[in-house]
Amino acid sequence: MIIVMQPDAGEAEISAVEARIRSHGLEVHVSRGTERTLIGAIGDERKLDPEMFDPLPGVERSMHILKPYKLVAREWHKASTIVDVAGVKIGANAVQVIAGPCSVETQPQMDAAADGVAAAGARLMRGGAFKPRTSPYAFQGKGVDGLAMLRDAAARHGLPIVTELMDVRMLDAFLEHKVDVIQIGTRNMQNFDLLKEVGRVDVPVILKRGMSATISEWLMAAEYIAAGGNHRIMLCERGIRTFETAYRNVLDVTAVAVLKRETHLPVIVDPSHGTGDYRSVPALARAAAAVGADGLIIEVHPDPARALSDGPQSLTPAKFEALMVSVRQIAEVCGLRM
Ligand code: PEP
Ligand code: MN
Repeated sequence: MIIVMQPDAGEAEISAVEARIRSHGLEVHVSRGTERTLIGAIGDERKLDPEMFDPLPGVERSMHILKPYKLVAREWHKASTIVDVAGVKIGANAVQVIAGPCSVETQPQMDAAADGVAAAGARLMRGGAFKPRTSPYAFQGKGVDGLAMLRDAAARHGLPIVTELMDVRMLDAFLEHKVDVIQIGTRNMQNFDLLKEVGRVDVPVILKRGMSATISEWLMAAEYIAAGGNHRIMLCERGIRTFETAYRNVLDVTAVAVLKRETHLPVIVDPSHGTGDYRSVPALARAAAAVGADGLIIEVHPDPARALSDGPQSLTPAKFEALMVSVRQIAEVCGLRM
């Protein structure tokens, strides 16, 4: 059962709800978000009824949630959640585009990428400073220096930044560099200790789908972040592993339609990792907009042939600009802003 507190509910009101849950022999989980507090009753829910909580002061409403994921379920939150990233609203009838290189390499590379993605109309900039590479001998990223390069390049165009966190020990560096969105990559979707830590901070999170994760496992991973009190979560479909070997991953557009029913969280799509080939990226970006994605995250490099990671799936700034024109047409037909 979940008890949704009113936004201005005080500590005494929260404690009264906790006491009532415990008096029936159940455990309590409190998730204190910036907007409101959500209280979960854990245990034999048959002992509880909304009538026990709804009349209490400070309670907005309470209900049984049948799904294993609770806080992220659309069951209790019919309206779609809008995540505000430094004024860019994700989940509000718009296709918001995040673009930039796979990896932060040099300041000139980042400056050229920022110029290109900003000119084409991207609203946020991406760039990996810490890279999860399959081979330990491959480029591992610029680390903290990379955070500064991304921040400097993006700031010249007023773009908020998105970058991947792999290790909880780097969280303070992310906060110091004022990272606007923390990306949790596909390889860490079920790194539960990492999820718990990002659940404690007040920074929006993009949770990428594990490459072999079911939608239910993915939503349970999001539940870890929400349970910690961070409710500013966006899900990112980035392609899954199947029997097909003709391309890197299979972009699961069906997942977007299913997630829109199952969760109130915004859903974005990464057609770059989702296909692995720059030639397929524009078509899949259009498919994502058409199926209802709230945003796209796209790899753009000023010189893909020389990229230190994911060059084959990276667009040049010129190709990215053409993609934006064609996705805008789809957005318009669907009544979405871009
Ligand atoms: C990335 O965004 O560059 C990345 C490594 O993504 P994923 O975790 O989806 O592979
Ligand atoms: Mn990449």
